[in-house]
Amino acid sequence: MADFSMELNEDQKTVQSWVHDFAENVMRPAAHEWDEREETPWPIIQEAANIGLYSMDFMADAFSDPMGLKMVIALEELAWGDAGITLALMGTTLAVAGIMANGTPEQAMEWVPQCFGTPDDLKLAAFGVSEPDAGSDVSSLKTRAVYDASTDEWVLNGTKTWITNGGIANTHVIVASVEPELAGRGQASFVIPEGTKGISMGQKFQKMGIRASHTAEVVLDDCRIPGRMLLGGKEKLDERLARAREGKKSGVQAAMKTFETTRPSVGAQALGIARAAYEYSLDYAKERKQFGRPIIENQAIAFKLANMKMHIDASRLLVWRAAWMGATGQPFTAGEGSMSKLYAGETAVRVTEDAIQILGGYGYVREYPVERWHRDSKIFTIFEGTSEIQQLIIARAISGIHIK
Ligand SMILES: Cc1cc2nc3c(=O)[nH]c(=O)nc-3n(C[C@H](O)[C@H](O)[C@H](O)COP(=O)(O)OP(=O)(O)OC[C@H]3O[C@@H](n4cnc5c(N)ncnc54)[C@H](O)[C@@H]3O)c2cc1C
Repeated sequence: MADFSMELNEDQKTVQSWVHDFAENVMRPAAHEWDEREETPWPIIQEAANIGLYSMDFMADAFSDPMGLKMVIALEELAWGDAGITLALMGTTLAVAGIMANGTPEQAMEWVPQCFGTPDDLKLAAFGVSEPDAGSDVSSLKTRAVYDASTDEWVLNGTKTWITNGGIANTHVIVASVEPELAGRGQASFVIPEGTKGISMGQKFQKMGIRASHTAEVVLDDCRIPGRMLLGGKEKLDERLARAREGKKSGVQAAMKTFETTRPSVGAQALGIARAAYEYSLDYAKERKQFGRPIIENQAIAFKLANMKMHIDASRLLVWRAAWMGATGQPFTAGEGSMSKLYAGETAVRVTEDAIQILGGYGYVREYPVERWHRDSKIFTIFEGTSEIQQLIIARAISGIHIK
């Protein structure tokens, strides 16, 4: 058993400083432009692909850290650079997580590389669960997948909404209901490869923040895919459905399983935004003079910064703990993954708002990045499970009671 240590190893430090360089020199200078354009920042994704940051290899390496920290360290740095661009880069990873969580090793080998493409032929992927009437309640999906035995095909119909990279992705991973009577336990995940007919983009949303990330509806209209696109395979699905029909426990629902593995990574991005705002406002408070002295000399400002720093450090500890627990196979008996995302998300909103206050009028205008960080932070209390849903998960885990 290794001694307890909070110090990063050389490998983790190398990744941290490599990603930080990219965040500082490529993302930060581009952040304002892509926020204003509200478009996928292809040139930045291309640069990330050129250096191997947007790639399957990087993701595999980051997730192979036995301590589980490399990915969350990288994500903190990326979101410190810009959260919208980070999401444009990481939307693909959500789909990859869906494939890894539910697919066979053969399916992962086939589909994961296609989610990223290559530097010469970039690809994006998207993960679609949410629907207009099924957000927090992912057990009530209306999108149907029906098996056509005569052609060995699945036929998908329905509308997904709020999908990161939705409709512009080359590969979509879609969660659909196979047996609606079984609610969440009657669902399965499907890969919809590039060039498939019957899948299209609906409305593209204009958002408050993370505007460099594309968010849109995905419409499935008699979308036919070969039988082998069912993640995990038909035999396993049939067994799972049979168990569910008998009322037996059958593990975690497809969608929930994916979200479970990704929560510390989402918390890490919130942490990156919070740290950016904290560092900026600390520097500003030392420079800005009112009443003949730097504003940091007022306790009202200095105490705000002290609290910001404390909540950021606490967020990081929760994120690292959850990432470590995931990588080392510890059971999340108190919803520790949810805690990390909940705390870091709420911290990002509070810290970025405090940063605006410290900058005064300069915090409120677009010439300065702080208002963007605040707009970017808010999504972290909403997507991948709202703050209330995280509290529900933690409350159920610690009490053993099905709190509603
Ligand atoms: C920018 C963006 C990107 C997104 N990307 C993706 C994506 O790539 N893929 C994807 O599948 N989805 C994505 N989403 C969807 C996101 O996960 C959902 O918005 C989120 O799960 C909340 O669902 P909802 O918006 O329908 O809110 P609702 O579920 O309708 O919730 C509304 C309010 O009610 C509260 N509430 C609901 N149920 C309970 C309860 N039981 N107890 C207490 N409070 C409750 C919620 O916490 C919230 O405050 C994205 C959303 C956005 C905005």
